[in-house]
Amino acid sequence: MKKILSYTLQNWDKIPQSAFLSNEDREAIEVVGRVLPFKTNNYVTDQLIQWDQLKDDPIFTLNFPRRGMLLPHHYDKVAALMGDEQKLNVVIEDIRRELNPNPSGQEHNVPEFKGKRLHGLQHKYRETVLLFPRPGQTCHAYCTFCFRWPQFSGLPDMKFSIKEDYELYIEYIKDHPRVTDILFTGGDPMTMNATLLRAHIEPMLSRGMEQIQNIRIGTKALAYWPYRFTTDEDADNVLRLFDDIIQSGKHLSIMAHFNHPVELSTPAVKEAITRIRNTGAQIRTQSPVLRHINDDPNVWAEMLKREVELGCIPYYMFVARDTGAKHYFEIPLAQCQAIFREAYQKVSGICRTVRGPSMSDHAGKIQILGVNEAAGEKLFVLRFIQGRNPDWVAKPFFAKFNPTATWFDQLEPAFGEKEFFFEHELGDYLRDALERDRGAY
Ligand SMILES: *Cc1c(COP(=O)(O)O)cnc(C)c1O
Ligand code: SF4
Repeated sequence: MKKILSYTLQNWDKIPQSAFLSNEDREAIEVVGRVLPFKTNNYVTDQLIQWDQLKDDPIFTLNFPRRGMLLPHHYDKVAALMGDEQKLNVVIEDIRRELNPNPSGQEHNVPEFKGKRLHGLQHKYRETVLLFPRPGQTCHAYCTFCFRWPQFSGLPDMKFSIKEDYELYIEYIKDHPRVTDILFTGGDPMTMNATLLRAHIEPMLSRGMEQIQNIRIGTKALAYWPYRFTTDEDADNVLRLFDDIIQSGKHLSIMAHFNHPVELSTPAVKEAITRIRNTGAQIRTQSPVLRHINDDPNVWAEMLKREVELGCIPYYMFVARDTGAKHYFEIPLAQCQAIFREAYQKVSGICRTVRGPSMSDHAGKIQILGVNEAAGEKLFVLRFIQGRNPDWVAKPFFAKFNPTATWFDQLEPAFGEKEFFFEHELGDYLRDALERDRGAY
């Protein structure tokens, strides 16, 4: 396949298979698609979606707006105003702001350096810097659960992207010699052409950047547009860049986002994985656990097995963040952990490199290790995989069991304690960040 045919709100009725859609599906696309970003492409529609089983098709749900993705009162409000563009735009803007567009205080991770805010950089964990190249702030298709959705919708003040001189970013990294990992993210950096991608990555390979050991690229391209690595016009240049990264002595890891085993089933994705692996790059995989998509240990077990079979390394199972259509996709933490545990038990040790379920909260990546009892109390056993303070990491701690909680902020410390062991210190971090923000704006 040589060309991306993108489908959006403007042209989705040109999708050849759209005849399968009911009137209700069509209305939902028009209404929900006004609030949440919607984009898909001809690979997804031709090869991943099973159009004769739309009602439960996970890939359709991943790409297409469905009625339940807006709360009923939001849906009704938008539906009633369809056609009245002026009023509609005001209501849409209000609803978007209500949907918690930047969860977990990501803006606190944006540092100030030499008197400037680096709007395209997040630095939360000591070793790893996230970069948001400006031309990469889009995706080949959009996930309806996406927590980066302000990057694609009309909320410009919420966007992370590199607006300042790139040299300043390089200086920032050199000024933080403990940074070993650069994670290019977005959006999807693989929407950039090979020249732009190279322009962003090459400075990391140059003299003076010996501190950088690992280059990571977070991408959904393998799932939504594998031709990026095979038949796209500049696919060979992309792979040459990967070669050059490896030749420079650095590790390259493609952090591939897969949500369902179907995404690992086509000849195109298999060929793309082979070509990437032939450069010496590793592919690590990650996904949130999502209702309607993969809330089933068998689906996870199959996904993990296929990943390993194709030469990928399972990395993270995430808990869906509190944003956008969260109410549609969310699963109680207890159930997330049960899904993880059962899937983990079904696969061999080689697949058990997956870690989770993990919540990216203000304090860090918090893993739910399990449910157990101590001193007569039912508990969640938790630990940090990553912490704002590295000292918090890999120390088990306990929360009261709560069968309905869907995020860490709904949990309470166990054994009648007033706060979790890190909360006092976290308060200091966030206060500092707030003060810095006040000065900067
Ligand atoms: C997940 C994440 C990272 C990377 O963490 P690893 O455990 O090294 O994969 C870095 N920064 C932020 C803000 C993250 O959420
Ligand atoms: S691939 Fe990632 S950034 Fe892109 S739409 Fe999906 S969740 Fe969002």
